[in-house]
Amino acid sequence: MNRYTTLDTKGYEEVVRCDNREVGFTAWIAIHNSNRGPALGGCRVWRYENEETALTDVLRLSKGMTYKNALAGLPLGGGKSVVHTDLKLVDRVALFEELGNFVESLDGRYITAEDVNSTLQDMAVVKRRTDHVATVGASGNPSPFTAYGVYCAIRASVQHKLKRELLDGLTVAIQGVGETGSRLAELLKRDNCQIIATDTNEDHLRSLREKIDFEFVKPEEIYSTPCDIFSPCALGGILNSRTIPLLLCQIVAGSANNQLLTEKDGQRLYRRSILYAPDYAANAGGVINISCEIDQLYDNEKAMRLTADIEKTLLEIYKLSAEKKLPTNMVANSLAEELFRFNTAVC
Ligand code: NAD
Repeated sequence: MNRYTTLDTKGYEEVVRCDNREVGFTAWIAIHNSNRGPALGGCRVWRYENEETALTDVLRLSKGMTYKNALAGLPLGGGKSVVHTDLKLVDRVALFEELGNFVESLDGRYITAEDVNSTLQDMAVVKRRTDHVATVGASGNPSPFTAYGVYCAIRASVQHKLKRELLDGLTVAIQGVGETGSRLAELLKRDNCQIIATDTNEDHLRSLREKIDFEFVKPEEIYSTPCDIFSPCALGGILNSRTIPLLLCQIVAGSANNQLLTEKDGQRLYRRSILYAPDYAANAGGVINISCEIDQLYDNEKAMRLTADIEKTLLEIYKLSAEKKLPTNMVANSLAEELFRFNTAVC
């Protein structure tokens, strides 16, 4: 049985903890801000070091979703759920059924979706207990939309920084060729870009090699690889005081979440005249696609059209950054804050 405890957390609208001893998990749902609409954010399942780390993660991630959803212009707020458990030791179906009950207890103020270690199949189980779950309808895998959005972000970055419309002949160094990085590589190859790629997973490299030609570099070499665009599509925190001085690119634009280790690293890139596409603006394609199945009949073309708007959003950020002489991450944050500060939800 789920036992719920509401936590009073400054700066957050609602944070609820759920304990279930029978199934064997503790979970948290955090709603950071719902001024633009119900809080959408995926469900991350992880064996955290301790409960404090799990709570810190759900708070950080839900806040990030508020910024991402607002900047993408979605009528949605920011929320997230994390489940602290060991998936090897629990009954997976029971876990996601109880998670469904937990989501249902918030009465639609939070909408969940897949995330790290939760799948489309798991969301179908959640759906048995609540309607407040996305990615169970026709929108499917968000990764192709995320990759397409990053491609649009690269186009905007090239227009602004290199003053050209076409990507033809540019060199892009991609860190991580999984779900998003490999699809991005294919899109860029169609535009006659040169691809340099790295990955720690041999299978992912092999499977991309079957589709396109690319040059391989070792994982640590990717930072100092001369290229026009560096595209982080693997891990967070990879833009930091150690790696930024190594970069030999003019643009950074990729799918990875939380690329900057600290906000100061945005300043570091700015001082080096490297144009940084703020990650949550560039990688919003997946959530834009998911939003197209909430309270409406899913329309693939609409999802593509809205994802393509990432190009305009990035151009706006770059224009303001140039006018105000501020790093792009700071400009993106201010734009997002303006968009979610007031209650704009349609009742
Ligand atoms: P993925 O796991 O499919 O791919 C990541 C790839 O990076 C894997 O191939 C992995 O082997 C590789 N990798 C891991 N460590 C590496 C290292 N040190 N050096 C080089 N390669 C390394 O994940 P994904 O779905 O493509 O997501 C990539 C990033 O984009 C993540 O940060 C994710 O949170 C973010 N993101 C993804 C989506 C989406 O729709 N999939 C949406 C928004 C954000």
